[in-house]
Amino acid sequence: MLGHLPKKVRIVEVGPRDGLQNEKTIVSLEDKVIFIKMLAAAGMKEIEANSFVRVEKIPQMSDGIELFSSLKKEATLSKTKLISLIPNLIGLENALKAGVTEIAVVTATSNTFNETNINATTDESLKRIDTIVARAHKEGLKTRAYISTVFGCPYEGKTSLAELKRVANHLESLGVYEVSLGDTIGVANPLQVKEIIQFLKADFPLDFFAMHFHDTRGMGVANILASLEMGMTSFDSSAGGLGGCPYAKGASGNVATEDLVFLFSSMGIETGIDMEKLAQASSFILDKLSKGSTSKNLTAYLASKAQTSS
Ligand code: MG
Repeated sequence: MLGHLPKKVRIVEVGPRDGLQNEKTIVSLEDKVIFIKMLAAAGMKEIEANSFVRVEKIPQMSDGIELFSSLKKEATLSKTKLISLIPNLIGLENALKAGVTEIAVVTATSNTFNETNINATTDESLKRIDTIVARAHKEGLKTRAYISTVFGCPYEGKTSLAELKRVANHLESLGVYEVSLGDTIGVANPLQVKEIIQFLKADFPLDFFAMHFHDTRGMGVANILASLEMGMTSFDSSAGGLGGCPYAKGASGNVATEDLVFLFSSMGIETGIDMEKLAQASSFILDKLSKGSTSKNLTAYLASKAQTSS
């Protein structure tokens, strides 16, 4: 099995959006720009930077237009792919004004989750996505999609594989370049991960998918290794493990980028990420949030550094 591991992997950093969105402490626009620049300096080539949601819905993301306009002016980010999450057509129009070139859209395999999270049934959400993607493609934007609750739903429990296939097929037919499969509540286990990838393999090219794991129950790295063994090479993660879990108060959410970087680099798999610079970026933002990291590797890295310098 080990012989089949890839030489390199691709990491999509989602901390500035998926991470910060779930943090209560509001980070200033200036600090968000610094954080994103530090992530790029650490080697992150693809960063989910922000979202264009209704201001009253997620205050942390209320500076979408201003933030993105500021990022566009940064020469050091000219080669970084910045992605914006778009919930509706109004959000897309604002994103176009701000100069966004790549967007992400989101739906789920659970009808109840969609109704609760985005106030639409799965079919209604797909219709919404149809109009967003059509307009985005007309404007020359690239689109990525998330499917949430692939491994379990906080309301429905187990979710349907047939529904996963239907939703993924629909998104593929729209021409999104990638679908990220989300373990929204962090309940996936490695065996289930392998079964789902095996199931999808029959109908889709595997490089159509990225894996988006949460570390809520400490299974993030195990699930990534299982995905890797099945041939997956694209992973979403969040610097320092930013972002809690709205379905388990006090628990962690997104798997930490530092944990991925250690996992991959210690097995000789290339990530293109500089651990020292990544640790600096995570420390910077965690300091602004006045909180510690949920990443075991970042904690160990910072502790060993403090020891050698004292
Ligand atoms: Mg997430």
